[in-house]
Parts: sequence; structure tokens; C-alpha cells
Amino acid sequence: MSARIALKIDVDTYRGISDGTPRLASFLLSQKIPASFFISLGPDNSGWAVTRLFRHSGFLKKMKRTSALSIYGFRTALSGTLFPARPMGTSFRDQFREWRDQGFEVSPHGYDHILWHDQAATWNAQRAMCELEKVRDVYRHIFGEDPRSFAAPGWQAGEGTWQAMDSWKLLYHSDSRGTRPFFPTLNGSTLKTLEIPTTLPTWDEMLAWDGITRHNLVEETWKLLKKDQLNVWTIHAEFEGTVYFPQFHEFVERAAREGVEWVYLPKVAQTILKNPERVPCDTIKQGSLPGRAGTVTCQHG
Ligand SMILES: [Zn+2]
Repeated sequence: MSARIALKIDVDTYRGISDGTPRLASFLLSQKIPASFFISLGPDNSGWAVTRLFRHSGFLKKMKRTSALSIYGFRTALSGTLFPARPMGTSFRDQFREWRDQGFEVSPHGYDHILWHDQAATWNAQRAMCELEKVRDVYRHIFGEDPRSFAAPGWQAGEGTWQAMDSWKLLYHSDSRGTRPFFPTLNGSTLKTLEIPTTLPTWDEMLAWDGITRHNLVEETWKLLKKDQLNVWTIHAEFEGTVYFPQFHEFVERAAREGVEWVYLPKVAQTILKNPERVPCDTIKQGSLPGRAGTVTCQHG
């Protein structure tokens, strides 16, 4: 049996939309690989990430290791600091619609990526809803309808964000890191929206591991695939869509040779939800992952 992989592409910045996403979309289309693009819809405040130098010890090492400045570019690194933040969602309306018309899922990755990343795990439902309403306004402006899924920036989720999203009646959200789809149980009550966690490490994390280089990245990722379960892989438009595109291309070629089945997250969710009684109910906790600064929301059985 060959592995099944669902591909999730996070788009955090203006440059990720204008540069990385078009390259990935046309390549995936040519390979007939389904994918979900999750795009931050508000201002590109990524310049504020620089302030994390002082808060997360791993950040500087990672900036060096992955040559973040060459990936994100000078304009992005300073966006929202020296330069005014550029709106992401409203600037690329036609482009988003085109990608969706091509068969990709195009859904929100928060409004303000930096704010969500730094604060959302502790928000109550009311605070989370304030942010989600901004997301929904922009999404409606682009597509004329409400979002059907959501992926949290920085894998940050909590009782507040998921309670607020429950009222949206999403097909699924993909906000955490874990091993299998689940219904979140928090403080004794189980929420209604299916969570499909990312199961594989990201390439920017792996490149911070000892012994991993751009030369063995594809091989080492290959070893992590699980044959007997759904693999959910998150890539970034700013990373695999630009400087690491050759490696992504190589991975896809290998997947074709080995008969990998690329699956589409909305279809995965629909299939799982046909038998909700078989879906496990799990809790979450903040945890750290090798190669990633700070903590992320992790599935906890
Ligand atoms: Zn992101």
C-alpha cells in the first residue's frame, strides 16, 4: 500500500501570494495534485516577527539556518515596521478566485498572522470571534460566501478559537500538530468541528535538525511518511514555493514514482464525517517541536 498525503500550503505574507503561490499552483495543477491554500487575509505585519528575536531563543538560529531574509525578502522582513503593512486578502481577489476555479481549496489562515500566532491560544471565544469576523468579511468580499475551513497561523488553537469556529459550522479546521483527525475535547465538553492536525514536520523545522541539509531533505522526509495512515503535510508558499522549490519538485517526482496518493483535505473531512462515531475525541496541550521556536498546539490523546 502506498502512502496517502494531504497537502496544506500556508501563505503568510504578501510575497507568498505574489511569488510562491503562483509557482506552486501551476506546478500542482500540471501534476494533478490537489491542495489546500490557507492564506492570511489581513495586513502583512511580518516585520514584527523581527521582535521575536528578543523573545524566542531559537529564532535567530533559524533565521540564519534557513536564510530567512533571502527567502522572505527585505520588503517582507520589514513589512509592518518601517514600511506600512500591505493588505493581503483584498489585493489579490482575482488571483484567489482563479486558484479556486482551478480546483484548489482556498481558505483563511487567520487575519493578522503575527497577532494570531502570538496570542490566539489564550483568547476567549469572544476575543477570537472579533478576529474571525475580520477574516469572514474579507473572505466574503473575495468569494461572496463564508469560509468552509480554516488553518490557524503558527498552529495556535485554544478553547476560545475553537468555540468561536464551532459557530461557523466549518467542514473542518487544521490548527494543530498531531497524529490523526479528532474532535477536540476541552474542559469536559467536546466540540463539533473536526480537527485535522498536521502530522509531518515542516521543512523549516527539519532544516534546524542536526544532519539535515537541503541535499538529504527529500530522503529524510520520505522516511517519515506513514504508510498506514493519513499524512498531512504543511508547506509554506514563501519556502517551498521559492528557494526550496527544487526540493519540493524532487519530492513530488519521487512521490509519483512510488505511487503516493495525494488526497484533498475537504474530501478527507467529508469521508471521515460520514462516520463521526469513529472519530476519536482528544484534548490538546501546548508543546514544543524539534526545530521550532516557541510552542504549538499539540494533540494530546
Ligand atoms: Zn503561517
